[in-house]
Amino acid sequence: MDCIFCDIIGKNESAEILYENESIISFLDIRPVNYGHTLVIPKKHYENFLSVPSEVLGDLIQATQMLSAAILKSLAPDGFNIVVNNGVAAGQSIFHFHFHIIPRFQSDDFKFRPNLKSYRDGTMEKFAEKIRLAITT
Ligand code: 5GP
Ligand code: ZN
Repeated sequence: MDCIFCDIIGKNESAEILYENESIISFLDIRPVNYGHTLVIPKKHYENFLSVPSEVLGDLIQATQMLSAAILKSLAPDGFNIVVNNGVAAGQSIFHFHFHIIPRFQSDDFKFRPNLKSYRDGTMEKFAEKIRLAITT
């Protein structure tokens, strides 16, 4: 399977690695929204959020929190986004799961301004019911 992130993990492709342990690795995104834009990924290949086992997800979220703190301390952004894109429609381009940590500045020109919808009468309830019925714990 061809995966650039697996190549980075295997050190067959270079990357500016920030941190790694036995289960995760983190490196700078090559095309940053803002400088310091960081990716945090599992060392094992999982395609998306749903396929990552919960214990690996735990390691990933812990590392993402630790690295966010390091980015705040070192680069002093005004804020940061934690983003996960799942599927082409959501903007995913590398199908090896990853968290983005994006440092944000008041003055940056990165905008996420969707055209927000409104629920028509009674439809909010219907959407909620549909989702509740699909929940498996
Ligand atoms: P996605 O669009 O899948 O959510 O995010 C994939 C990210 O990986 C993109 O932001 C892209 O810039 C980054 N990326 C793609 N190829 C490489 C690469 O070879 N090296 C690094 N460091 N980042 C990459
Ligand atoms: Zn991979």
